[in-house]
Amino acid sequence: NNPILEVKEARKSYPVTKGFISRKNIGTVKAVDNVSFNLYKGETLGVIGESGCGKSTLAKLIMGLTTLSGGEIRLKGEPVRPDMPLTMRRNIQMIFQDPYSSLDPRMNVRRIVEEPLRIHENLSKEEKNKIVLPIMEQVGLSAGALDKFPHEFSGGQRQRIGIARALVLNPEVIVCDEPVSALDVSIQAQVLNLFASLKKIRGLTYIFISHDMSVIKHVSDRIMVMYLGQVMEISSKRSLFGNARHPYTQALMSAIPEPNPAAMKNRIILKGDLPSPIHAPAGCPFQSRCPQAMDKCRIKPELKQVGEGHYVACHLVNEGVVS
Ligand code: SF4
Ligand code: MG
Repeated sequence: NNPILEVKEARKSYPVTKGFISRKNIGTVKAVDNVSFNLYKGETLGVIGESGCGKSTLAKLIMGLTTLSGGEIRLKGEPVRPDMPLTMRRNIQMIFQDPYSSLDPRMNVRRIVEEPLRIHENLSKEEKNKIVLPIMEQVGLSAGALDKFPHEFSGGQRQRIGIARALVLNPEVIVCDEPVSALDVSIQAQVLNLFASLKKIRGLTYIFISHDMSVIKHVSDRIMVMYLGQVMEISSKRSLFGNARHPYTQALMSAIPEPNPAAMKNRIILKGDLPSPIHAPAGCPFQSRCPQAMDKCRIKPELKQVGEGHYVACHLVNEGVVS
């Protein structure tokens, strides 16, 4: 079973400059720092971390929208990069966070949804309808919606339009970057259920990025936890929720709202904010906020296997220990 997407030691760093005119170089941000994982057909890999942890940069790298500073990314064995051919690019599509700004308000829904077809193929009106009409139905919009404009729709419906647009080229992989974060909580579940049904109907594979562990828990088969551009823990959902080993993962999980007030007492509240990525600490990136930090944590922990497909980067765990 070959992975559909392979990410190997992916890195992306940016120079940081200060001053509008002098542009003095004051450091480097390692937005994505040595990230490796495989994505298999039909699964949903949830990527969780706080804003600024490198999730969106990782999405851009996977989409081939920006160049790698190191490592490699392969889609079905072929290298992903900004100049990859359209035949390859159409296989991986993205859904964005903001359904308000990601749709051009001057275009009607038909033009928005058909836009990717214009770039890639020279199709007749009938041929386009044959592709677009079933997709509109799959995303829960009527054919009549095609003649309307984005402002005539609610946030949840706009996100459905964005999803329809992402599907018209029949991609195998969809990268969803915080696709429900801008929506009301009552609408979020509907859109998450839509992702689940599309996965079944169309055999999709997802990378699903969110800062919200309840959302990640709902959608994922596997989960990757990121902090300051690095992978802290990666595991199946079952193993992660049964046996989270990284203190950061444990803190993210304890933030999931619980109906039982006794459980809320055991919440782990993280002190302080994410450190500036320009001055990321040497050693474990989480040490400035970790409730269990120790001297040893000034040395960077490697990812260690703690169970089947379950890896953790923390000095508290020992290799091969499965508990
Ligand atoms: Fe905390 Fe140390 Fe583990 Fe980092 S390596 S998560 S600082 S205990
Ligand atoms: Mg982001």
